[in-house]
Amino acid sequence: MKLIIFGPPGSGKGTYSSRLKERFNLEKISTGDIFREEVKKGSELGKKVEEYLKKGELVPDDIVIEVVKERIKNCERFILDGFPRTLKQAKALDKMVKIDAIIKINAHSEILIEKISGRRICSNPKCDGNYNIADIHKTIDGIEYILPPLLPKEDMKCDKCGSPLIQRDDDKPEVIKERLRIYEEQSKPVLEYYKRKRKNKIPFIEVWMNRPPEQVVEKIIEGLKNLGLVR
Ligand code: ADP
Ligand code: ZN
Repeated sequence: MKLIIFGPPGSGKGTYSSRLKERFNLEKISTGDIFREEVKKGSELGKKVEEYLKKGELVPDDIVIEVVKERIKNCERFILDGFPRTLKQAKALDKMVKIDAIIKINAHSEILIEKISGRRICSNPKCDGNYNIADIHKTIDGIEYILPPLLPKEDMKCDKCGSPLIQRDDDKPEVIKERLRIYEEQSKPVLEYYKRKRKNKIPFIEVWMNRPPEQVVEKIIEGLKNLGLVR
């Protein structure tokens, strides 16, 4: 099974792909994670991409395509997260493998902004505790959102280590709006390409991020079942 997952920042895409990975024994291939790791290791590739990551700019297509090609070589079961991001990448991927389905996560930007603004992480750099104070009950364009908060047991202190919780700089509203704008701008031509492509058209599984992750994942799995990809 070969999948692509598309979704705006704050849509929980990372969580869904991790759960799908566990459930169906897939390799999760996230280009963002790969690049961050290489930068940390200070590898040849890391040095090449460091500046782009720092500025939040796209890494040149040739580099990204080469990395993905290497990773999916001999890989029968995977979920791609963060790739393809450009038309050139989508076309290159077409030449490499046949993708079975594209999972597209939908959400209104108003909800994403509220959800991302509600994120709180543990201030201890060695701890990965993360929480969300946003409590969303709202219907927009007929989509009912029920997204309860994920609060620490003690007021604004990490359950795991007791350190105070903080907000990440790029989780502030102005930065979020900019990240959403960039996502729209980048993903649009790629999604249009997949929707337009006639021959061997790849099926879409579209789900709304309007319930907690377990329920969204269940909907994705239902879509995979309908396509006969899982039982
Ligand atoms: P975000 O969702 O915060 O943009 P990602 O984790 O998906 O982050 O990616 C982090 C960075 O890695 C991007 O800002 C970009 O520099 C680079 N990157 C990741 N995937 C790609 C890709 N498919 N094409 C080009 N650059 C990429
Ligand atoms: Zn902690």
